[in-house]
Amino acid sequence: MDKTLQPVRGMNDVLAEQMPWWQFLEAEARALFAAYGYQEVRLPLLEPTELFKRSIGEFTDIVEKEMYTFTDRGGDSLTLRPEATAGLVRAAISNGLLHNQKHRLWTSGPMFRYERPQKGRFRQFHQIDIEAFGYDGPDIDAEMILMSARLWGRLGIRRVKLQVNSLGTPESRKDYRELLVRYFEQHRAVLDEDSLRRLGGNPLRILDSKNPAMQDMIAGAPMITDHLDPESKAHFDGLCAHLSACGIEFTVNPRLVRGLDYYTRTVFEWTTDALGSQDAVCSGGRYDRLIAQLGGEPTPAIGWALGEERIVGLLQDAGVAVPSGAPGVFLVLAGEPAMRVGLKLAEDLREALPGIGVQANLGGGGIKAQMKRADKSGAAIAVIVGDAEVERGTAAIKSLRAEAPQQECSWAELPARIRALT
Ligand code: ATP
Ligand code: MG
Repeated sequence: MDKTLQPVRGMNDVLAEQMPWWQFLEAEARALFAAYGYQEVRLPLLEPTELFKRSIGEFTDIVEKEMYTFTDRGGDSLTLRPEATAGLVRAAISNGLLHNQKHRLWTSGPMFRYERPQKGRFRQFHQIDIEAFGYDGPDIDAEMILMSARLWGRLGIRRVKLQVNSLGTPESRKDYRELLVRYFEQHRAVLDEDSLRRLGGNPLRILDSKNPAMQDMIAGAPMITDHLDPESKAHFDGLCAHLSACGIEFTVNPRLVRGLDYYTRTVFEWTTDALGSQDAVCSGGRYDRLIAQLGGEPTPAIGWALGEERIVGLLQDAGVAVPSGAPGVFLVLAGEPAMRVGLKLAEDLREALPGIGVQANLGGGGIKAQMKRADKSGAAIAVIVGDAEVERGTAAIKSLRAEAPQQECSWAELPARIRALT
């Protein structure tokens, strides 16, 4: 086929048949965030390239090789957002939201990363993201994680596991970093090309490597949890105590460093064994220094993001039943007289039954073809109007999904009869 008619590699059309799962996830997330006092914001897809370089960090996969960056017609370097946190922080600073204030915000939408497309990994994908500004925790750290756990509960997702870690402060990390560099220097022969490059810039990221040949060496590396400053240690103990008190199961993984540079103290990740190697479904952490580093009022902050494609994959994999979005009623209009009164009849039903979808047959067709359409629409009930019914001012009601005798009633009675059946 003509290449201009193909989607860009790694960018998917999400068609109607997939939407019930997306809508279920998004509706549950929206309700959950409202219940915890989070407000929605919507931000630009494009930001100045510099924003991501300064926040995510130069030695990260995202900035090194995954950004969609271009120069616009005015000569500015812009980047399609690879994640949402940087933009949210930028927005909080641009709009003066940080002066002695606390904010709990969420957003969602497409993110863009130039990665190798495969199952669960795309170049345009979707995240739901929450951030809290102005709270230094560890209570909010725990609550953020509790929110994610509650979301899995509401969605009926069970095959997920939580890992937590603390990265301490940039100061405490400095000593640890030196130890780590020394250790990696001793094992230089095992390091791959990426790791050798990171050794000078960001050696912690080597711990995150998925290269199987390096795993034994990484397992022997010094652990950050043994080198935390006392405040970070207390913060981490506080988080773990809250999680335990709330009955959340978790593992402390001292190798969990996350792919972004801006984290301090708490980091966490939910993974699954149901999606093959793309196992991360939700991750986040605290970034107490980032806002000041970008020129904002020093403000502690924490957030997480989930990948919608992967959560939808989990829902489908687990066979979770989601609302279908099908209309409640399909109105069959057979013959000219029925077609003349049909639109008005459908409007009257919609008026009387605001919670029930009513799809009218448009464009005519024989009664058999229309009944097929009614079935295909997923509607629970067909309301059938033909020449004889128009003459009598009645309609026939047929249950499409349940065993029930067909009935006939006046148009005025229709709403009550339909309500009784749905
Ligand atoms: P991964 O280790 O799979 O690359 P990540 O650590 O880069 O994930 P984050 O930047 O933390 O991911 O983004 C949060 C979530 O967004 C991930 O847990 C994942 O579910 C999802 N995600 C990240 N990159 C992609 C992608 N290219 N395609 C689909 N989902 C993604
Ligand atoms: Mg990644």
